[in-house]
Amino acid sequence: MHPAHRYINYLCPMRIDIITVLPQLLESPFQHSILRRAIDKGLVEVNLINLRDYSTQKQKSVDDYAFGGGAGMVMTIEPIANCINALKAERDYDEVIYTSPDGETLNQRTSNHLSTLNNIIILCGHYKGVDQRVRDHFITKEISIGDYVLSGGELAAAVICDSVIRIIPGAISDETSALTDSFQDNLLAPPVYTRPAEFNGWKVPEILLSGHAEKIENWRHEQSIERTRQRRPDLLE
Ligand code: SAH
Repeated sequence: MHPAHRYINYLCPMRIDIITVLPQLLESPFQHSILRRAIDKGLVEVNLINLRDYSTQKQKSVDDYAFGGGAGMVMTIEPIANCINALKAERDYDEVIYTSPDGETLNQRTSNHLSTLNNIIILCGHYKGVDQRVRDHFITKEISIGDYVLSGGELAAAVICDSVIRIIPGAISDETSALTDSFQDNLLAPPVYTRPAEFNGWKVPEILLSGHAEKIENWRHEQSIERTRQRRPDLLE
């Protein structure tokens, strides 16, 4: 289903629960711009959950040494299980996502799909990652934001949320804007220009000043195809 066709129920916004050991790291991304407005409009609810609140250890610890030895700590299953079970007792979840460099690489299709869901959990990893049993028994989807390693899943969670929330209908005031971005329809976006029409002798393509809506639309489409052919021919296959 295309995100534009998602039935918006203002009484039941999308809900994203993010489980993290560093909730402070995730506060700012949701306090500005499009994400902030989507939350204020009631299109989405984002909850930052501190995993330490679910630790039963004295020091509120959430990690331990790896069985078999080796460098790096591993996040323990107990607090994660307590946290996810507590959330699941309150409502049903469509996906329980783990951010991980070995997950499927995030793309626009996945973001479109996620934006149509009602309730999702995103679990942020740290250290060497989580005990494999968490992944085997609680996680329904593993997402990587690219072939490089981050220190924690928080920035990945922020990237996932940004790409998902901005396409919830109503999040961007000009509805069509999100749908003309790169990767929607497997094409890269055409070049854009704004005032002044001439700077330093560098002119804006004449067609854009013509006021001829249909010709402009065609020009943009051709530019999109050309740019995609040059930069990402794999998308056209
Ligand atoms: N030892 C792990 C990496 C751990 S990095 C490995 O080699 O696969 C610590 C945490 O950061 C991970 O558990 C994951 O939650 C997050 N993370 C790191 N890189 C990421 C990426 N590219 N995409 C999504 N999450 C990532």
